[in-house]
Amino acid sequence: MKNKLVDRIRNQSDLFVIAGPCSAESREQVNQIAQALSLNSWVQLMRAGIWKPRTHPDSFEGLGEKALPWLVDAGREYGVPTCIEVANKSHVDAALKAGVDALWIGARTTVNPFAVQEIADALKGTDTSVLIKNPINPDLELWLGAFERFNNAGLDDLTAIHRGFSIYNHAKYRNVPRWEIPIAFNEKRPDVPMICDPSHIAGNRKLLLEVSQYAMDLNFDGLMIETHPNPNRALSDAKQQVDAIGLSSLLEKLVLRQPDFSQDVGTMIDEIRDKVSILDDQLFDILSDRMQLSEEVGILKRENNITVLQQEHWNQLISKRLTQSNDYHLTNQFVRTLMDAIHQESIRHQTRIMNPKTTKHS
Ligand code: PEP
Ligand code: MN
Repeated sequence: MKNKLVDRIRNQSDLFVIAGPCSAESREQVNQIAQALSLNSWVQLMRAGIWKPRTHPDSFEGLGEKALPWLVDAGREYGVPTCIEVANKSHVDAALKAGVDALWIGARTTVNPFAVQEIADALKGTDTSVLIKNPINPDLELWLGAFERFNNAGLDDLTAIHRGFSIYNHAKYRNVPRWEIPIAFNEKRPDVPMICDPSHIAGNRKLLLEVSQYAMDLNFDGLMIETHPNPNRALSDAKQQVDAIGLSSLLEKLVLRQPDFSQDVGTMIDEIRDKVSILDDQLFDILSDRMQLSEEVGILKRENNITVLQQEHWNQLISKRLTQSNDYHLTNQFVRTLMDAIHQESIRHQTRIMNPKTTKHS
C-alpha cells in the first residue's frame, strides 16, 4: 500500500471495510472470496487468518505459511490489499517476506506484553501498518500499552480494532462489547482510528447488523467483518461469517450518519446541552446532600455500634428502584449500576466516619 493505512481510513468519506474469511482454507477459497470482495466498493482490505489461536487444541489452527502466497497472490490479482494476524516474530518475518500489506495483533496476543514486544521489535525499522485488537480481558491500559510498545519501536501507522471482551457464561454476545472501553480509548488516543469487529463480538451472523449499527452511531471509522464463500462450511467461526452477498446487504442496511449542520443544528444542540448541564449541576448538588445525610446516619451507627452495611435495608431500597425503572424510562441495568455506585460511595463515607483513625480520604 502506498499511503499510510491510518490516512486511508481517516480519509474514507463513509466507512472503511475489512472483510475476508476467518481462516484461509484453500487457494480456491481465498481466490473466490478475493474476487467477490473486489466487486464490493466498500471493501478496502482483505483479511484471512493463517495461524489461528484457538481455545481447544483439536480445533482447526490454520494452514500456516503455505497459505500466505494464496492470500498475497489473490490480493494482487484482484487489487485488494491484504492483512493477516501475527502472534510472534516468525509470523512477522514470514508475512513481510511474502508481501502481506498489513498485520493485525489478535486479542489473545495483545494480553501478552512479551509477545507484543517481540512483534514490535521484529517490525522495528519498517513502516508496516499494524492493527491492534483489544485484549480479551477488559483492560484499557493493556490495550494502550500495546500501542506504546509499537510507538516506541518507531511504528506510527497504528489502528485499533474493538472485538469485545471474553467473559464466562455470556448471554447474548460471544464477547461483550463494553462500549465504554473503546470510547475511553478514543479519549486517550484520538490520533488512532477505531475499527469495530462485529463478527467476534456477535459470534452469530444474525446479530452483525445491530452491532455494526451501534458502532456506526458511536462514530467508529470502519468495520472488520468475517466473510467466507460458504460460511456454513467454514473451518472456524462458521456461525458468525457471512458470504459476499450477506456482506453487501448488511452494509446497505447500515445507516451512516453524515452530519448536516446547514440548519444551525449546532446552536440548537448547544442550547439543549446548556439545559442538560444545569440538570447535571442539580444532580451533583443532590448527590452531595445525599452523602451528607448518609454521614449523619454513619454517626448514629458509630455511636450505637451498628454495622455500615445493613443488607436488609439495601435490598429494599434497590428493589424499590428497580421496580420503578420503567416509570422513569430508565433501563434496569442503568438503575442497578447507578444505585450500586451511590451505595458504594455512601459506604465509603460511613466507613470513614466510623473509623476516623484508620481510613484516609481517597
Ligand atoms: C480473528 O480475527 O479471527 C481472531 C482470532 O480474532 P480475535 O483475536 O479477536 O479473537
Ligand atoms: Mn474468527
